[in-house]
Amino acid sequence: MNIDVKVKNLKKIYPGKVPTYALRGVTFDIKEGEFVAIMGKSGGGKSTLLHQLGLLDTPTKGTLLIDDVDVSKLSNHEKTLFRLQRLGYVFQEYALIFELTAMENVLLPAFALNGSHESYKKRAIDMLGKVGLKERANHRPHELSGGEQQRVAIARALINNPKILFADEPMANLDTNSSKQILELFQKLNKELGQTIIMVTHEPEDKKYVDRVIRIKDGLIEE
Ligand code: ADP
Ligand code: MG
Repeated sequence: MNIDVKVKNLKKIYPGKVPTYALRGVTFDIKEGEFVAIMGKSGGGKSTLLHQLGLLDTPTKGTLLIDDVDVSKLSNHEKTLFRLQRLGYVFQEYALIFELTAMENVLLPAFALNGSHESYKKRAIDMLGKVGLKERANHRPHELSGGEQQRVAIARALINNPKILFADEPMANLDTNSSKQILELFQKLNKELGQTIIMVTHEPEDKKYVDRVIRIKDGLIEE
């Protein structure tokens, strides 16, 4: 089975008058098709870890292979393309563009790759269907609930068929019921599409939805 993420002795130190040792050497693998939760108390280094894995930041030390590519060797331009082609992101804030419809928001990462308009439109409709929002394609964000907006953000993250889907506390702004819907949706995407998902959460109860938990405390993996 393929390894999607291979991390060895990864460190991140934020410089400053007093440097912050946010990751102090973490090592693990994530296989293709796994649904993994990164858990731990606030300030432990979860988001920092996700940002390194998602090529949204550069580690201070260590090796990082994503989809068999040593990403430290990529130029900035290659990294941008790598992110667009192989990675998808969902954050706590849905970050939808308010002037655009759900459909147009979902299409944005495809346009960034110069995808042909018509084929991507079909895929956008498919993805909105996957997240249960086919009927809302022409709604703007303010006409959607928080949970629905997050589902649009998930469809957007999937439009370019990413190898890995990253999510950082995607339920943090949602009520219990919408949170459950999002977790069940991730589970479905993982099972039906074989989507690799790496999700940060601080909610211990979420662990029942995932294949495996990686616990982070003070910048280290807790055994
Ligand atoms: P978590 O997501 O688990 O709450 P973070 O990864 O956000 O933890 O933070 C880990 C540590 O790194 C914390 O001490 C935090 O204050 C610090 N930190 C996070 N981002 C930055 C940054 N951009 N600059 C400096 N320190 C940071
Ligand atoms: Mg965080």
